Amino acid sequence: MPDSTQIAAVRAYEALDSRGNPTVAAEVRLHGGAVGRALVPSGASTGRHEAVELRDGDPSRYDGQGVRRAVAAVNDVIGPALAGDADAADQSALDARLCALDGTAHKSSLGANAILGVSLAAAHAAAAAFNLPLYRYLNHHYRYPGESYRHPVGYNRHSGLRRNPDLSPSTAFTLPMPMVNIISGGRHSAGGLDMQDFLAIPIGAATFAEALQMAAAVYRAVGRILSQSGPYPYGVADEGGYGPPLPCHEDALGLLYDAARLAGYRCARDGDIAIGMDVAATEFITGDGNYALQAEGRSFTATELADLLCHWCETYPIISIEDGLGEDDWAGWEYLTKRLGASTQLIGDDLFTTNPQRLARGADAGIANAVLVKPNQIGTLTETLDTVRLAQERGYLPVISARSGETEDATIADLAVATGAGQIKIGSVTRSERLAKYNRLLQIEDELGDAAQFAGRDAFARFQL
Ligand code: PGA
Ligand code: ZN
Repeated sequence: MPDSTQIAAVRAYEALDSRGNPTVAAEVRLHGGAVGRALVPSGASTGRHEAVELRDGDPSRYDGQGVRRAVAAVNDVIGPALAGDADAADQSALDARLCALDGTAHKSSLGANAILGVSLAAAHAAAAAFNLPLYRYLNHHYRYPGESYRHPVGYNRHSGLRRNPDLSPSTAFTLPMPMVNIISGGRHSAGGLDMQDFLAIPIGAATFAEALQMAAAVYRAVGRILSQSGPYPYGVADEGGYGPPLPCHEDALGLLYDAARLAGYRCARDGDIAIGMDVAATEFITGDGNYALQAEGRSFTATELADLLCHWCETYPIISIEDGLGEDDWAGWEYLTKRLGASTQLIGDDLFTTNPQRLARGADAGIANAVLVKPNQIGTLTETLDTVRLAQERGYLPVISARSGETEDATIADLAVATGAGQIKIGSVTRSERLAKYNRLLQIEDELGDAAQFAGRDAFARFQL
């Protein structure tokens, strides 16, 4: 008689993401009857060091963006290998199997999209089998790497059998501070700005729900300001923010600042709303290692770009900058970290690609002080949890993140709560692929009641806001 969490069947099919591009939807069915489903996201400003997203390249379907090969990898290779021979509750063994089945360093054989779909669907199925909200189930795997989940006792190889403490309804969990996209540029909008995200960080909020309300007020205030210069055809960019044709980047910072004030908030490092940016600098690095900013009308060396960011930090309450320099510009990053690292969160996205090895290299060199965590950059849930754990061990702030191409899949909301990451970046407050995650966080906060904590301003405690 197989264990109820043994995998009985694995299936995938092609679904569509928020850009109308195909993506992998995976389903894992367990012997006990529980079913888990996951849909895989997709980036536009992808880093060179990310795990490989398998696309068909057949121009007769979806401009070559089809994922039938990745779907076939699930149905023809992964499914037959796992069915009857893998326990969904043993996430790390399952993910190691998936990596071994692929056999390449960057998951280019089966595709990280195929592998992640199964990895996440298995977690959903196991959580359902134990009748646990996903964040409680994932919290177990975060805290006890390598241990399968057992209900109601867990086996700890050091201390023997024990109760799983995460079963207690009174266990406190921390909701993350959202970093909310308000204005988009770069590859996410046609507005003409080179830099990708201008974000509102509602540092003055006392709860997650209040944080979202404050960010939505800033979003609406930007709309009011833009509409004063005529009807605005400027929304909705890839992540739901506005993508207006602004003349230069400082105008975007000024617009965000003015909107926060118009909404009645104090826009300051020690105020209600602070500002974050995702420069996504890899997107405008040129062959000679310089950074060509069309909206600034000139090219910058790494040092000059870092100096420009410093200057903006002196002028505006910017507390977080992501990918301020390119994905392989370690020397530039070192300079940027020396100049701003004590006062400002410096997030590596394309720089680290959720990869524990790259994060360890950065930590050894003292580069950046935070890491963006996108499960599809690395390709399994276990490796994603490893990266968050490593970040917390090495004193880096983890920021759980969506991709620009998303679906209704809300797994990252539970992931942020399960790991107590402290921050999440999902996009703006419009478009339901974004709201699926925000609404899931609202549901979790409501469900936890008194056991819900909110990261709040403390997420940035080390920068002395
Ligand atoms: P991407 O954008 O999903 O297009 O990479 C998100 C980000 O850069 O943070
Ligand atoms: Zn980014």
